[in-house]
Amino acid sequence: ILFLRSLPKAELHAHLNGSIPISVLQELASEYLASRAASGSSSSSISDESLVAGIEKLKQGPVLEEIMDFFSLFPAIYALTSTPEALKRATRAVLSTFLDGDLPECNHLELRTTPRQTTAMDREQYLLAVLEEVELYDPDKVGLIVSVDRRMGDDVLGECVRIACKLRSEGRRVIGLDLCGDPTAGQVETFAPYFAEAKKAGLGLTVHIAETIHNSSEETMKLLSYNPDRLGHATFLDEEAVEVVLDKRMCIEICLTSNLLCKTVSTLESHHILQYLKADHPVSICTDDILPFRTSLLAEYALLLAKPPYGLGLSQDQVRKMGEMSLHARFK
Ligand code: 5GP
Repeated sequence: ILFLRSLPKAELHAHLNGSIPISVLQELASEYLASRAASGSSSSSISDESLVAGIEKLKQGPVLEEIMDFFSLFPAIYALTSTPEALKRATRAVLSTFLDGDLPECNHLELRTTPRQTTAMDREQYLLAVLEEVELYDPDKVGLIVSVDRRMGDDVLGECVRIACKLRSEGRRVIGLDLCGDPTAGQVETFAPYFAEAKKAGLGLTVHIAETIHNSSEETMKLLSYNPDRLGHATFLDEEAVEVVLDKRMCIEICLTSNLLCKTVSTLESHHILQYLKADHPVSICTDDILPFRTSLLAEYALLLAKPPYGLGLSQDQVRKMGEMSLHARFK
């Protein structure tokens, strides 16, 4: 544990709303329900019963039959992080989980989140609330990646990218753009001009790619042609895609537990990370969403060290090198 804790490493793929400690969500839920009862309000995106059931599911550790079950966990969380105050509290708790303490989980964190418009804030106010917390830390330690969702239309997408570029030009700690959300939704061509705009503004680009068996080779090749700096998951790359990835040295953000629990990878022994380790290709070990996947960055690194079938059985030297690779793949 001491070896893993003291190992220099970066967390590069953590979704804010999937990384909130359950204790904080429970507190937010109690306050939310109490204020709704006091105001007699019935207007909400989610019923009180669904909210309570959703939080209980997260507390128990959700059972996922397939990756799509995972996305249904978010409406309950979103109901609780829909004001700037609540969002800031949640962000503070996530930052603290990764970065605080004598021997923190990582030396560097890139936190990502999708700007949401609610009745209490617009998308820019959403990002400003998160940034206010992020910027309480040393800028060398943490940066914000703005996520766009595959379900977004041109108008919202344009708005998110415009705000991300503007904030960066104002010297705020926005470092990248991410494509995430339901892997089966949307047409990736929609995103091409926005990716180009973000890159022009100096933002790093990372895309969730080939996450499920349903993502076509054609879609994957299109996404690769937009020249992302890093790739999220990249589970179902065919030979042609692997060749491009190896050739361009695109770092792969690897989320072992997430892949196993979403059943996109069946065993650690068959995980695609092994093929990249063999090729000495850059990878970065990440958590994805520590709340539903009940993991931590240390637990993900522990899977590297543990002997098969519980882990990959790598040596300390190999694991040290993976920490270095994650630091090397940071966005500037
Ligand atoms: P947020 O962006 O709201 O802070 O974090 C939660 C959101 O991140 C989810 O609603 C989902 O759109 C996205 N997300 C989290 N984990 C994954 C993942 O493993 N794959 C994909 N494609 N999207 C994810």
